[in-house]
Amino acid sequence: MPADPGRAEQVVRRCRELALVSEEEGRLTRWFGGPAMARANELVGRWMAEAGMGVRVDAAGNLVGRVPGSDPRAGTLLLGSHLDTVRDAGAFDGPLGVLAAIECVALLRARELSLPFAVDVLGFADEEGLRFGTTYLGSRAVAGTLDPAILDLADEHGVTIGEVVAAFGAGPGAASRRGERLLGYCELHIEQGPVLEGQGASVGIVTAIAGATRAEARFAGHAGHAGTVPMASRRDAACALAEFVLAVEAAGRAEPGLVATVGRLAALPGAPNVIPGSALASLDVRHADDAARDAAVDALRDRAAAIGAARGIEVTWETRLAAPAVAMDPALTRELAAAVADSGIAEVRLASGAGHDAVALSELTGVAMLFVRCAGGISHHPAESVDAADVAVALDVLDGFLRRLA
Ligand SMILES: [Zn+2]
Repeated sequence: MPADPGRAEQVVRRCRELALVSEEEGRLTRWFGGPAMARANELVGRWMAEAGMGVRVDAAGNLVGRVPGSDPRAGTLLLGSHLDTVRDAGAFDGPLGVLAAIECVALLRARELSLPFAVDVLGFADEEGLRFGTTYLGSRAVAGTLDPAILDLADEHGVTIGEVVAAFGAGPGAASRRGERLLGYCELHIEQGPVLEGQGASVGIVTAIAGATRAEARFAGHAGHAGTVPMASRRDAACALAEFVLAVEAAGRAEPGLVATVGRLAALPGAPNVIPGSALASLDVRHADDAARDAAVDALRDRAAAIGAARGIEVTWETRLAAPAVAMDPALTRELAAAVADSGIAEVRLASGAGHDAVALSELTGVAMLFVRCAGGISHHPAESVDAADVAVALDVLDGFLRRLA
């Protein structure tokens, strides 16, 4: 019995209602430990309770709704996503995964079905890191991998993470689920890209979360007067930078599955009548295959050196982050694929270019992800939207997944 369309419409309506809970007038912004997060937890907690779940906020500020299983030894399946947002966010990035999971629990209850295992629906308190610049703070606390040193990180007003989590009780270490019998974590999330729309698919099964390298290339040439230094004797750092930016684009276009971006660039001193003496470019390279990503980064590093050598410009390179790709759990993903087949829709598989809470949870338990098509691939923007018909398909798949695991 497929989920009725009214349930999908309710999920979409609730995402929109939740989007009104914000720190900022007229736009959606919810950061870790703010009053809006507390109100969001209250509202979503009420929906969890209505679906028959026991509700609590854990020691890291994550919202947790729980339905016990019929067999206490059968362990717990984790579902959910995050409830915090970027600044001026859309309504669906994060909340869709939480509210869809609640609706699946409500659907089981409406059918008077109980599962052998317990289901916890998690609303993570901090995935976007807007307030403290952290990544996956909420889900890392649950995974038991939070570095205690980050408790000293302060926001722009000097309030530390340690002070914020003190309000939740026992300290974030107590949010860890390490040592429990867990069956895995399944996250439903909007795609945040155009692939599903391009293929005419409502949902897609995530194969892996791409690994990412972030680096910075600095080009040191020689500044000079824009009117007096002849072209042939210049060492213009911005020209080297420009060559590098196009090389990055060409590398990304040449290799399937690779994305490569220069998101920040600067030429200094930055005056119209001065030849730029130095320049810098950020680099973000992602691929679901770590070897392919490493090879691409090495090639770009060599290319930057060659560009500099040809122009008499010194190039320095600093790798800021190298995060490996995260594989999805084969067994959970097989069940998800079977649930897609049961729903009578074609299977589409895709890698995730964006990071998700599943990255942090993969250090605790097996993870699987289901993407839902979003209009125009638009995300991190107030225009973010999903079609209720696609959400109905996603609910059907998630419901089938739960019943298969049972
Ligand atoms: Zn998200």
